[in-house]
Amino acid sequence: MRLRFLLLPALMTIAAPVAAEDTTLNEEVRSRADQVEQKVIAWRRDIHEHPELANREFRTSELVARHLKALKFDEVRRHVAHTGVIGVLKGGKPGPVIALRADMDALPIVERTGLPFASKVKTMRGDHEVGVMHACGHDAHTAMLMGVAEVLSAMREDIAGTILFIFQPAEEGVPDGEEGGSKLILKEGALDGAYRPEVIFGQHIWPGEAGTVFYRPRGQMAAADRLRIKVTGVQSHGSQPWHGVDPVITSAQIMMALQLIPSRQLNVSKAPAVITIGQIEGGTASNIMPESVEMAGTIRTFDPDMREDLLARVKRTVESIAASAGAKAEVDIASYAPVVYNDPDLVKRMEPTLRKAAGDHLQEMGLVMGSEDFAHYMKDIPGLFYFLGVNMPEAERNGPVSDVHSPTFMLNEAALKQGVVTMSMLALEYPSTAQERGNH
Ligand SMILES: [Zn+2]
Ligand SMILES: [Zn+2]
Repeated sequence: MRLRFLLLPALMTIAAPVAAEDTTLNEEVRSRADQVEQKVIAWRRDIHEHPELANREFRTSELVARHLKALKFDEVRRHVAHTGVIGVLKGGKPGPVIALRADMDALPIVERTGLPFASKVKTMRGDHEVGVMHACGHDAHTAMLMGVAEVLSAMREDIAGTILFIFQPAEEGVPDGEEGGSKLILKEGALDGAYRPEVIFGQHIWPGEAGTVFYRPRGQMAAADRLRIKVTGVQSHGSQPWHGVDPVITSAQIMMALQLIPSRQLNVSKAPAVITIGQIEGGTASNIMPESVEMAGTIRTFDPDMREDLLARVKRTVESIAASAGAKAEVDIASYAPVVYNDPDLVKRMEPTLRKAAGDHLQEMGLVMGSEDFAHYMKDIPGLFYFLGVNMPEAERNGPVSDVHSPTFMLNEAALKQGVVTMSMLALEYPSTAQERGNH
């Protein structure tokens, strides 16, 4: 009896071909990621130097499509949601459809990093000339997914199922009057039919230790709603405000009152909520009380019921304050994205893969008040969206780490290989996790 007990674990170790195969797969992904690393960095620099705004990613999508065709992808679909590219890679074994997503658009920011490959691009946005900069790391997301495409196309025989590579335009929002991003990809039906994904994975760079993978089950990133307010009063001379109705001071009251909604009226112990007015415009001269003032802002929430309640309170507060001043207020609230919600069963299933890919550099993280249009895919398709730390080494920084969307934002290219490995491993291991880890 004793002998049998001792022998059993030993036999089990020997007779565990799955684990052995996994290790080899992991090693092969790592060595292929090593080989492609310098290319990923070169692509990222090229895209960084030639950034394109939302729905204008012409050069970037050309670069992507050419790469996927050179890798002999089974299908390369162009002009998805304007400038998007979807590549189809069929594996050697039967299995599910798995989608991997990267975003390609840059931001209207004048770059001030001083990098040799810094963007000098300027373009028109509406009536204004703006700089264009990859300040949110979408250059790196695109380059990493191109790297994953190269790694996995060389490992077709090991792939169970079909992998969709979604290179998405316009994550940062579209110019007025245009449609775009994940919403348009779904609206066009690009993910319907035979290639309906069973699961979707996405990654985003993050101000954390370079190469660390950060993840969180359930709610991860906030729902975002865009808020526009127009306050209309009665114009008059600035010296005689009693002759008119002042929309400037009414707007100031409104802005203050909006801040009191999350802090005084909502149960913030349940979930956080943020309101920010980022834009205010009105008036033409110091001595004229103008007719109207326009404001725009963003509302971030995590809980759907709290969100509904908050939106109703915003409307009521704005309209009531305007009425108390004898002014009129129009409130327009448009949903940008729901919560990025990581399916808890999927996270549980894929945790061992994340651990294998990132080793000790895997960390659970807190809530992020930022939002992502990746959330739209997650409404219908179980998904996992994780973050990749890209902080520069301290010696190479000119001060504190600059945030994404800042003109001095820089990322550590040494971390990109980890992004390629993690994404490749998720795609390769997902099909087998259904049986192995049980909770489909
Ligand atoms: Zn961004
Ligand atoms: Zn982003």
